[in-house]
Amino acid sequence: MDEAVGKALELMEQRSAAYVVTPNPEIVMLCRENPSLSRAVENAAMVLPDGIGIVKGARILGTPLKQKLPVIDFAQELFSHMAIHGMTLFLLGAKPGVAEKAAANLSARFEGLKIVGTNDGYFEDSAPLIEKINSVSPDLLLVCLGAPKQELWMYENAHLLSVGLMAGLGGSLDVFAGIAERAPESWRKLGLEWLYRLKEEPSRAKRMTNLPKFGFAVICRRMFRNK
Ligand code: UDP
Repeated sequence: MDEAVGKALELMEQRSAAYVVTPNPEIVMLCRENPSLSRAVENAAMVLPDGIGIVKGARILGTPLKQKLPVIDFAQELFSHMAIHGMTLFLLGAKPGVAEKAAANLSARFEGLKIVGTNDGYFEDSAPLIEKINSVSPDLLLVCLGAPKQELWMYENAHLLSVGLMAGLGGSLDVFAGIAERAPESWRKLGLEWLYRLKEEPSRAKRMTNLPKFGFAVICRRMFRNK
């Protein structure tokens, strides 16, 4: 976590509109079908393992990662550091009104963090939005449009944006706004965040069929990589 936060702060200082992606097994499987998404993920300055599935997969493939980094934990840790330095944040994504609620909650919680703009994630045209973001030129832009939209948006628009760093953080604005809940700590410790999400949102079942496919793909890669 310290390493990831340190690197993110460094990238913010460089102000090159680099971006962070936080894949879980579903996103990895989408990358295998979608070359544009795969390019977007490969082009990221930081790739953080959002779930236990990625950590287990990496271990099986002999390229172990230090730990999983749930996006909410990463964002909160980053906000704490940004607050100390009075850094600026723009929240993009979720349904109308959600980013504003998240901004109010985060400002109350991280004194010193400056939230300089918000926008919902249901826009037709990126041009006016990019102008709005560039007019405040934030240190960090959270792009919470869900996968694969957020990864593709960051990849396609990075060269037009005046921001320190961007991070694609899925449904985290809903959590910061208090309209969605994280899995309880006991579920998280067991690596069952995905199961809790499925319980809360059964409509995710179709997407989650990618989980066993991911496990199977990792095992096949391990068994056949030298053949
Ligand atoms: N969303 C958005 N614009 C869209 C589609 C989705 O802003 O066009 C938001 C949605 O309201 C939710 C988030 O993106 O806040 C997606 O959350 P989810 O937990 O599904 O993220 P994922 O697991 O896909 O990363």
